[in-house]
Amino acid sequence: MLCQACHKRNARVHETSFDTRTPGSRVERHLCEVCAGLKTEREVEEERAAFQLAAEKRREAQADLLQQIHSALFSAHFDSNQKQVLCCGTATCDSWNMHLILLRSGLPDVDPLQPWRQPGEGGKKHIARQVLGYDVRLICWSADPTQLMMNIFEPFPAAGARVDVAQGLLFVDRERDLFPDPFQSHSFCQFAASLLMNCDVVARKEFIFHSRKPQWMLDALNGNGRPSL
Ligand SMILES: [Zn+2]
Repeated sequence: MLCQACHKRNARVHETSFDTRTPGSRVERHLCEVCAGLKTEREVEEERAAFQLAAEKRREAQADLLQQIHSALFSAHFDSNQKQVLCCGTATCDSWNMHLILLRSGLPDVDPLQPWRQPGEGGKKHIARQVLGYDVRLICWSADPTQLMMNIFEPFPAAGARVDVAQGLLFVDRERDLFPDPFQSHSFCQFAASLLMNCDVVARKEFIFHSRKPQWMLDALNGNGRPSL
């Protein structure tokens, strides 16, 4: 909501007053901190600049970290001449230190996950690794959105995930049960939907996670859950 006085800044001061001479009357004022006399325009500007700088620094630090994760993953397994395996999509969830990487091979007989497989992981399309404090998931790419969805949700066979390709929608029946924390589960589903945009069928088309049970999250936000997501 914009400030009613200057129409420049967000209204952060909300006042309700009652006219005692007219019973039932109520007047609401929504003002920014400057128009409410709490701060000077300069103070607000300086706060905004400091906030932007901090956000920029966080973005840079995160980009650095992801760079390190990718070099740790790739340089350990590849010499510079090997180009058979390509990273064709990523999704990062800062809140949960989760990083999802789609890998594909340009050659039909090359298994893109082979360099990372450990004993017992043969045939898997989704491999989880801890790298520099991140939960990194290496996922086999597919041109087919349904197969790609199955690869992404391979560790969660009971999730009830499915895609409506025509509508560009991802549904997950047990969207809150994939991880111990329901918010992390929900985030994973959202990032899964963003990864689905990398399949061939819906190239450049948006793919959206359709949450069928938004109420649990609203309840958690209003009650005992985390204050913000
Ligand atoms: Zn104002």
